[in-house]
Amino acid sequence: MKKRLLTGLQPSGELTIGNYIGSIRQVIDYAKDYDTFLFVPDMHSITVPQDPETLHRRVREIVGMYLACGVSGVENHIYIQSEIPEHANLSWILECTAYMGELARMTQFKAKTENKKEKEIRCGLFTYPVLMAADILLYNAHVVPTGVDQKQHVELARNLAQRFNAKFGETFVVPEPLIPTVGAKIRDLLNPEKKMSKSAENPKASVFLNDTEKDIRKKIMGAVTDSGEGVYFDEENKPGVSNLLTIFAVFQGITIPEAEKHFENARYGDLKKEVAELLVEKLSALQARFAETMASGVVDETLDRGREYARAIATETYDRARRVVGLGRA
Ligand code: ATP
Ligand code: MG
Repeated sequence: MKKRLLTGLQPSGELTIGNYIGSIRQVIDYAKDYDTFLFVPDMHSITVPQDPETLHRRVREIVGMYLACGVSGVENHIYIQSEIPEHANLSWILECTAYMGELARMTQFKAKTENKKEKEIRCGLFTYPVLMAADILLYNAHVVPTGVDQKQHVELARNLAQRFNAKFGETFVVPEPLIPTVGAKIRDLLNPEKKMSKSAENPKASVFLNDTEKDIRKKIMGAVTDSGEGVYFDEENKPGVSNLLTIFAVFQGITIPEAEKHFENARYGDLKKEVAELLVEKLSALQARFAETMASGVVDETLDRGREYARAIATETYDRARRVVGLGRA
């Protein structure tokens, strides 16, 4: 039997080429080797304020984008977190095994609450790594692909699973993180020290999968490059140029050394122009497929099928967990 793999994309903003390169694109490969669970973690998104209409729209669009990018909704199980109540139920049981200290050590929590007053910090922001552990453990996922930014949270899921198993008997599979080798960190176009994020404040820092031709060109031409000249891959001294090279290589379907060869003797301006043209070509084709997908009934069909499959597994795992801790009737 194939091992289970689980991954999610939050509806916290419009999808970026970073999400495509670091997550969506990889899923197509993973699906060959794993039984793949793809979910939309909408409950995580309300740890910060959201507009309800926008949130509904984004949840459906994320699924539409997976499908438009070529992810199969038949071979993979695609579902929405909030449509399966066992996520919240298991999260509560796990919260009762987690410690304040270990959650307070999460770097994401520290980063997101820096310089904020207590009354400005929502409890959900503190406890969401436990919900993430529940998302993973409910399906007994073996492997969780994730960017570098989420590695610590997978570590927490491992600790909670081991602690629970030791106290109540073997219940959960202890998951492993899986970090992609190329494109694990596509950088912010204006500040290559940071990663590109769909919830970044300045929209000029990210190329969104649904950007217009004009915006794509403007953003790539305005990308911060490095001092000096020469187009080659050197993440330390040339993070901006290396980022553009990575984007080019991925969308062209070639390796980084091949991309370097292609740009031998080129100037930064040439690199930007070619990256912009390539993105315009690839993203407009993707946008056409996305529009077709959204107009058909396939998103809802996929989600109904995915929910049914996932819920059966979630119910079984949750039921075992609640019984061993003594909740309800044995
Ligand atoms: P947010 O700003 O809301 O955190 P995000 O863009 O960081 O949004 P997530 O929903 O946190 O996106 O992550 C979705 C997936 O995309 C994860 O697997 C994450 O590792 C990957 N990912 C996110 N940003 C990048 C990036 N810049 N480069 C590569 N992968 C990324
Ligand atoms: Mg993120």
